This record gives sequence, C-alpha cells and structure tokens, in this order.
Amino acid sequence: MPNSSILVAGAGGRMGKAIVAEILRTPGASLAGGFERPGGPDIGKDIGVLAGLDAIGLAVEDAADNGLSRAGVLIDFTTPKVSAENAKAAAAKGVAHVIGTTGLASDDEATIAEAAKSVPIVKSGNMSVGVNVLTALVEQAAKALDESFDIEIFEAHHRAKVDAPSGTAQMLGHAAARGRGVELADRQAPVDRSGARKTGDIGFSVSRGGGIVGVHEVSFAGMQEVITLSHSAIDRGLFAKGAVAAARWAVGKPPGLYSMRDVLGLG
Ligand code: NAP
Repeated sequence: MPNSSILVAGAGGRMGKAIVAEILRTPGASLAGGFERPGGPDIGKDIGVLAGLDAIGLAVEDAADNGLSRAGVLIDFTTPKVSAENAKAAAAKGVAHVIGTTGLASDDEATIAEAAKSVPIVKSGNMSVGVNVLTALVEQAAKALDESFDIEIFEAHHRAKVDAPSGTAQMLGHAAARGRGVELADRQAPVDRSGARKTGDIGFSVSRGGGIVGVHEVSFAGMQEVITLSHSAIDRGLFAKGAVAAARWAVGKPPGLYSMRDVLGLG
C-alpha cells in the first residue's frame, strides 16, 4: 500500500487551516504534519488547535524536509514561488503534490511541469466540484453561441486576495476560449479597458471586498438576450474538501500533471 499520509504547506493560512480540519474530519485520511514560512508566527503551535479543533500533538514545522520524509502527498495552497520550490522538493522525495495556489508565473508552471515528470501532481485554480462543472458548461455554451454573443467574466473575492483576475476566472476564460476554438491570450481584454468592445474579446472584471469567499459569473451577452452562468462559494471548506479528495486520488497514480477534472472524472 502506498503511503497516503498528507502534509500541509502553509498550515497556518486561510486554506491551510481549512485543509487540516478537513483531513482530521475525514475518516481514513491521515495527517503527516504541516509547515509554514521559516520565522512565521505559527511555527511550533499545535496544528489541530491552529485549525480550530482539539490538540493532536503535531507542531507546525518551519520547513518541508522532515514532513516530506513522512508523507505520501503534499497539499499546497501558499504562494507561486513557494509552490514551485515545493514541487522540486516533493518530486525529489517521490511525494505526490496537490497545488491550489493561483497566480503562477510561466517559470513556476515550467518548474511544476518538470516535477510532474517524476511524481503525480494535481493542479487546479479551483478545487470545487461546482466550479469544475461550471467550466464544462461554459465551454459548451461558448461553442454553441457565436461571436455575436460577447463573453464577460466577473469575479468577486475577499479583501486580502492578492492576484487578479482570480485563477478560477482564468480557468473559465480558457474554457470559453476552448469552446470558441481560440487561445485566451489572443482574445483576453485588459481588466482596465476603455473604448468600444472588440468582437470576439473575452472580458474580465474584478471586485474585492470584505470576506467574500468567491463569486464567478460568465455572461454571454447578445443584442436580444443574455445568458449568465454563475457560482458562489459559501465556505472555503469546499475547496479543502476538493483538495483532500485530490490528494487521496493522486496517491499511487503514475507521474503526470493532472487537473481537478481528472479527479472528478469530468474528462
Ligand atoms: P494565505 O492565508 O495567505 O495562506 C498562505 C500561507 O502560506 C500563509 O500562512 C503563508 O505564511 C504561508 N507561507 C508563505 N511562505 C511559505 C513557505 N515558504 N512555506 C510554507 N508556508 C508558507 O492565503 P490563502 O487564502 O490560504 O490562499 C493561498 C493560495 O490558495 C492563494 O494563491 C489563493 O488564491 C489560492 N486558493 C486556491 C483555491 C483553489 O480552489 N485552487 C481556493 C482558495 C484559495 P505567511 O502569511 O506567514 O507568509
């Protein structure tokens, strides 16, 4: 039986805490530990208590190394550079990797793709079942509706979110572009655009405020009708549930770069 014990990167972060709680609540799931940025304020604290549950006798560590020696899979919702470094470290120890971090630059993507030659890596800008179903619906709608329907993607998140447009908005943009048979990079209108809209552009708009967990809307706006597909995340436990399911799915899979659509069997 392969080792399926889960290590959590950024265990003191918003998602890290939700993931630890999800692992501790999931029958059959096992927690190998968690780590944080060296010098971070949560180093040494009990991981269970940090996640709002009972003490479990495992302290937050200040590096990945020890945890990677005990774990079969790493769940990582941190920052782009940290996730790329973790991908190299996990691959060197033969540990599977689930990456939820968004805002990855092309060199981070390249590092992760290289690591995926030696271990299974599941990477997705959104780990929820609902958003992955929404992505498939957006692709279908974009295929069915021609360029007389303008595609506009709106997203709203909490005030602390750093990257914009969100990883999920980008995922939806790529799905719309696939449906139209084009590359998003060739059709993406800048967020701060002005002037008349170009036919075939895929537009993005962004809102930040309060504690909003995540709202995404994709509109297909014609001159006589508008179709809007939308998703609202109510609790970030939703992403944690998806991440833990992805971790358990990844253990024992052949090396490769997988998405949440593979985990969910959406093709
Ligand atoms: P967060 O609260 O800032 O958590 C990130 C954590 O990583 C922080 O605790 C941070 O510590 C820690 N960290 C920084 N450097 C580290 C290092 N070298 N080693 C270990 N830990 C380190 O952010 P969040 O809201 O949880 O989001 C994290 C990422 O997940 C973002 O990119 C977000 O967009 C993404 N996200 C994805 C999904 C999805 O479904 N794919 C859903 C929600 C969020 P410090 O604060 O001390 O630096």
